[in-house]
Amino acid sequence: MHTIYLLLGTNLGEKAVNLSRATQLIEKEVGQVLASSSIYETMPWGIEDQPIFFNQVLQVSSSLEVNQLLKTTQSIEQTLGRKKYRHWGERLIDIDILYVDDLVYQSEALSVPHPQIPNRRFTLIPLVEIAPDFMHPLLALTQAALLAQCPDKLEVKPIR
Ligand code: ADP
Ligand code: MG
Repeated sequence: MHTIYLLLGTNLGEKAVNLSRATQLIEKEVGQVLASSSIYETMPWGIEDQPIFFNQVLQVSSSLEVNQLLKTTQSIEQTLGRKKYRHWGERLIDIDILYVDDLVYQSEALSVPHPQIPNRRFTLIPLVEIAPDFMHPLLALTQAALLAQCPDKLEVKPIR
């Protein structure tokens, strides 16, 4: 079994509903959800003229190999009606693979760990909530240490 961290993001429609539908499908098709962070309301990163995001990190136990995992998360995005408008832009649901155990994997379609983790507070804050001591396999820093040195200043706060 593998321990996987997934980042969910949504900024269109019923955002809390999108997150819970995605979590249900992940339970069904990826594996048991062992932990889930709070839902955070986050300012858009990269492209700023778009609605505020909800983000959440899940820790999932899965028997899928990485390429199968990417296929599965992409098919869940399709099932939930994701339309791609623009890179870093608005979406019903985005599922990013953050970590798969301490695997380092690189192909045209997939980079694990997700290369943007150290640059994004909206990823690090929920990761620190559920896995503060988990080591980044390339940088050899914990999630808490990555957050402490993250240059991003965008606001990320738990929803009420
Ligand atoms: P973004 O999340 O950057 O706005 P997408 O979700 O559309 O954009 O992802 C673009 C591509 O990123 C996907 O087609 C996928 O093949 C690739 N990708 C590379 N590494 C990862 C990863 N760790 N998790 C998810 N997608 C990844
Ligand atoms: Mg993505």
